[in-house]
Parts: sequence; structure tokens; C-alpha cells
Amino acid sequence: MRIGYGWDSHEFRVGIPLRIGGVTLAHPKGLGGHSDGDVLLHALTDALLGAVAAPDIGSLFPPSDPKWKGADSAVFLREALQRVRAAGYAIVNVDSTLILAAPKIGPHATAIREQVAKLLSVPTDCVGLKAKTPEGLGTDNVTIASVVVLLEKKN
Ligand SMILES: [Zn+2]
Repeated sequence: MRIGYGWDSHEFRVGIPLRIGGVTLAHPKGLGGHSDGDVLLHALTDALLGAVAAPDIGSLFPPSDPKWKGADSAVFLREALQRVRAAGYAIVNVDSTLILAAPKIGPHATAIREQVAKLLSVPTDCVGLKAKTPEGLGTDNVTIASVVVLLEKKN
């Protein structure tokens, strides 16, 4: 078996869509930075890549490359998934934590888990998602995601 861990953060910006786990959430601010700013898919991608000791997301898809500006982060996740499969592993489960002041994730948690599960081709009950507010961190203008994945060798 293999464990992978990924972490990411992005800053809120006014006037861009908020994408979390491949789902667009209604909010006055979105997450800026690399591609579509999907902090959860980035942390998940790094967790998968890390589990098979592949290069990280920033090495495979450099933020400096204009090709990835505004890109759908599902593209990065698909590449990571391919590398996991090529290494002979399958996903057992994923667990994730988001740290953000707003919006509330609870009402969207099922939709996000379903979308992430769909992107990974695993059952929804193999994708955990928790959201915390950044008590005392002073990071109200940021969303942080941390993700762990468990893989098992096939055959
Ligand atoms: Zn990112």
C-alpha cells in the first residue's frame, strides 16, 4: 500500500468563479493563482503524485506556463491518476480537509464529494471531505486544502 499527502492554498480574489473539487460555488470571490485555482483538486493531485513518488503538480504543470492559465484542474488530476495506474496502483480512499472562512461548505459537501469521486472513478463513500474555519490563523482571505490518499497495488 502507499499513502500520499498533498497541501495547497490559494488567495481569494473578487470577480472570478470559486471552484472547489471541480464544483463552481456561488460566492462573490473565487480563488486566484494557478489555473482555475481549485485548491482541493491541486492538493488531491499532489497527494496522488506523491503516493507514487512522481514529480509534483508545479513541476508537471508550471504556473509560469501560460498554457495552464485558467485551465480546468481536472486535467492535472487526470494526469496524476494515469501515473497512479501506470505504477500499478488503485485508489482505496481519499480524505480531505478545507480551511476557509466562507462560504460554508456543508451545503455543498455532497456535491463536491460526488464530483471528486466521479473524477477519480471511485464510489462517493471513498471520498471524505471536512471543512474548518481558520480559527486564530488570520487566513480569512485564503482557502487551504490538505488531502491524504491511500493506494493499493493491483493484482
Ligand atoms: Zn493550487
